[in-house]
Amino acid sequence: MRIGQGYDIHKLVENRPLILGGVEIPSPKGCLAHSDGDVLIHALIDALIGSMALGDIGQFFPDTDQKYKDIDSTILLKTVLDKLPEIKIINIDSTIVLQSPKLAPHIQKIRESLSTLLNLDVSQVSVKAKTAEHMLLELGSSDAIAASVTLLIQ
Ligand code: MG
Repeated sequence: MRIGQGYDIHKLVENRPLILGGVEIPSPKGCLAHSDGDVLIHALIDALIGSMALGDIGQFFPDTDQKYKDIDSTILLKTVLDKLPEIKIINIDSTIVLQSPKLAPHIQKIRESLSTLLNLDVSQVSVKAKTAEHMLLELGSSDAIAASVTLLIQ
């Protein structure tokens, strides 16, 4: 058994989609990013790569590479899973920090999306959301979003 953890943060700007775990969330702002900015999947990818001590997402997918411009992060996730066929995920626990919009109505859909992408049961995928209580500058003023993921693999 090995543990992995990942963290990511993105700036939120107007006229960009907000995509979390492969699910588009209705929001006036979305992530500014080289890819589609799916902060949750980026943290998940870092947790997977980290569990095998193989570096980080930037080494697998350099953001200077035009190939990854606006890419669907679920494709990045599938690429990483294909490169690590020996990994069997036991469970995932994650936290998204976002002042607004409220994510509670979307949590189940995000869990289902991740469990489908990872070929897991939804009971193996935990997604939690919390606000920054209007603190922490950008995170507390709806100008940023962060996510952290911890997982156990076999
Ligand atoms: Mg990212």
